[in-house]
Amino acid sequence: MTTLKAVRGTRDLLPAETGLWNRIEATARQVFARYNFGEIRTPVFEDTTLFARGVGEETDIVSKEMYTWEDRARAQSEKTQSLTLRPENTAGVVRAYIEHKLGETGQLQKLYYIGPQFRRERPQRGRYRQFSQIGAEVIGPVSAGSESPLRDAEVLEMLATLLDELGISGWVLKLNSVGSATDRPKYIETLRAALLPVVGQMCPDCQRRAETNPLRVLDCKVAEDQPFIDALPKIADSLDQASRDHFAQVCAALDAAGVPYERDHRLVRGLDYYTRTTFEFTHGGLGAQNALLGGGRYDGLSELIGGPKAPGIGFAMGEDRLVLTLQALESTKITLLDTKIDAYIAPLGEAQNPAALQLARELRRQGLSIELGDGSFRLKKSFEAADKVARAIILLGEDEAQSGILTVKQFSSGMQTKVARADLAAHLTASRI
Ligand code: ATP
Ligand code: MG
Repeated sequence: MTTLKAVRGTRDLLPAETGLWNRIEATARQVFARYNFGEIRTPVFEDTTLFARGVGEETDIVSKEMYTWEDRARAQSEKTQSLTLRPENTAGVVRAYIEHKLGETGQLQKLYYIGPQFRRERPQRGRYRQFSQIGAEVIGPVSAGSESPLRDAEVLEMLATLLDELGISGWVLKLNSVGSATDRPKYIETLRAALLPVVGQMCPDCQRRAETNPLRVLDCKVAEDQPFIDALPKIADSLDQASRDHFAQVCAALDAAGVPYERDHRLVRGLDYYTRTTFEFTHGGLGAQNALLGGGRYDGLSELIGGPKAPGIGFAMGEDRLVLTLQALESTKITLLDTKIDAYIAPLGEAQNPAALQLARELRRQGLSIELGDGSFRLKKSFEAADKVARAIILLGEDEAQSGILTVKQFSSGMQTKVARADLAAHLTASRI
């Protein structure tokens, strides 16, 4: 029989790694809470139309990367429905915003999510078919200030804080404006005209994009195409006064807060819904897949999927890439190693097994992390097992059970002490530091 393996582009995360994932998620939750974001959890699959409309038919995601299937009809009278595993979460969040009429509160909605996304891409380091994103959206009616450049700057400042608190040093914030729904079409025409004489010498993808979605040409990574792309007109020169002012105010607020950024004229991002501010945080430690996160403003998205006017701004961080970056940073390795549990209980003889479970229950209920050995193990085996996972070993023989005085050995110091059962939890907690 062939052995079954995880599907190409998917991975198992084992406990040696999930500790770091949990730490990242806990830090993100703490930071989001400080900025008054609440968590939203949307389904992992949605009606395909949501992504076709919300992400854009011409994007790489919708045109070639989605996991889509016709869901079986249960009765003959029922139609099949085209469903898709979510390739990103913004469309789902905005659908939920519309469905639950969150705009009617008149308040700005600040929502974050953490969860798996699915794209049929070519798997490589930092690029998987199931990956996890940590993202957030600020969305609401115009009267709630959802269009304000202050919101853009606040989201960017929050991201800078989050990356710093995660211990990711050396990030670079790249910032651009892709203009509003009125001035973007003008730029696209300018771009189309400028591409006409040169696109024949560019890669096949660019030739296709020049027809279907000229903005995407700016995304091209093919080395030979770069001189052509650098010579193309810049979107900054096509922005109208309102878009320029908006962008200038985002920059001014970032300057005031002391958040460093670089202007990147080619940053148009892979999703169609972006308007005005677009951004990416990159990190040198990631190699080719160097984007830690991406995001931008999407003032027309709600209307695109049938909702009321609800401008917004959001981002999605690649959690897998945060993990890769942290694993590469020396400082994390030290904290990663420090994952030993408080104690290992070694019952001395099988007769002590019930008493050992009782002691483990007592200590665990006091918040200690305990591994329970087995009375059939020889003492040497218990010590070896304990040394691997715990900071201390507790010996529980008949004498200890009767007297209520236990023998505790700390592995780091090699100290062996007699501790009264009532003082055990305090003793173990004190040795944590
Ligand atoms: P990339 O340029 O790396 O393909 P993207 O523009 O497609 O990224 P977004 O759709 O904006 O990315 O998603 C935001 C973030 O999610 C990315 O910056 C990246 O960190 C992460 N991400 C996107 N696709 C993948 C993937 N297939 N595997 C792992 N992480 C991913
Ligand atoms: Mg991509």
